[in-house]
Amino acid sequence: RSAHAASAPLTPGALADGTPVSLLANLGSPGEAQAAVALGAEGVGLFRTEFLFLDAAQAPSVEEQRVQYLALLDAFPGKKVTVRVLDAGADKPLAFLGETHEENPALGRRGIRALRDAEPVLRDQLQALAEASAQSEADLWVMAPMVADAGETEYFVSLAREFGLKTVGITAEVPAAAILADQIAERTDFVSIGTNDLTQYTMAADRLLGSVASYQDPWHPAVLRMIKSIGQAGRALGKPVGVCGESAADPLLAVVLVGLGATDLSMTAAALADVRAELLRHTLAEAQDLAARAVAATSAADARAVVSAAISGS
Ligand code: PEP
Ligand code: MG
Repeated sequence: RSAHAASAPLTPGALADGTPVSLLANLGSPGEAQAAVALGAEGVGLFRTEFLFLDAAQAPSVEEQRVQYLALLDAFPGKKVTVRVLDAGADKPLAFLGETHEENPALGRRGIRALRDAEPVLRDQLQALAEASAQSEADLWVMAPMVADAGETEYFVSLAREFGLKTVGITAEVPAAAILADQIAERTDFVSIGTNDLTQYTMAADRLLGSVASYQDPWHPAVLRMIKSIGQAGRALGKPVGVCGESAADPLLAVVLVGLGATDLSMTAAALADVRAELLRHTLAEAQDLAARAVAATSAADARAVVSAAISGS
């Protein structure tokens, strides 16, 4: 059965009423691409480029990067591949971006903040991405991590456009960006919600600290309301809104995310089949109803419970 299922062409991700929801993979190296395709990835919603260079003492050359990005893009001809520029920070340091000791790395000089201080490195990365894109048939989307407001958005978008990159966005993972989602969506081609960091910052609980791990729950209504505001901004402006945090891999939460306005979901490839199956069980109206119940909940546990109860009662 599984051999047959693996060879049968998958229909694109969708809800029961046919509403399309792209099902994409989160990847950390081009070598993971084939397995993701075999598991049904329709493209890539998050390629974490910093994972390629964690051991590098010097900044990688344009050529070194071009080869890696082209290998990734070539695995997805005609498909969307979303590449995130380097998201370095004290917890995932890149020596060539100037490592610094920080007491609170999550609140430090990371993501776009570090790249802005090292603009030549960012320029080389954008150059390599533009060259790889020109040589491939994939549809390259480029985004920046840890953007907080319109000014940082404009900085990244205009720089990326200098290199001829066509589809440029940001990851919404800082609460400031969720609160200002309308201003940000106006200035981008798309927004991708990073629910791992959005949860850590909304709940003020370090995602790497075991003692506060229970706060790292994207079902929390405070997090869901942040997502809702981003979804509304995207819908109002006709901009795609993806989710690329771990939350998209939870089948029931995936339905809620679509109800909150997510148009595509990116996850570890192993989760794609279960999410695909759950989406097919609900219409958009049902997903929106479940989302409304979840945002009205008073805790993460309550949100899970009301959504599960509504599904088993329907
Ligand atoms: C996130 O923050 O949700 C995200 C997708 O990025 P990372 O886990 O790499 O911080
Ligand atoms: Mg993040």
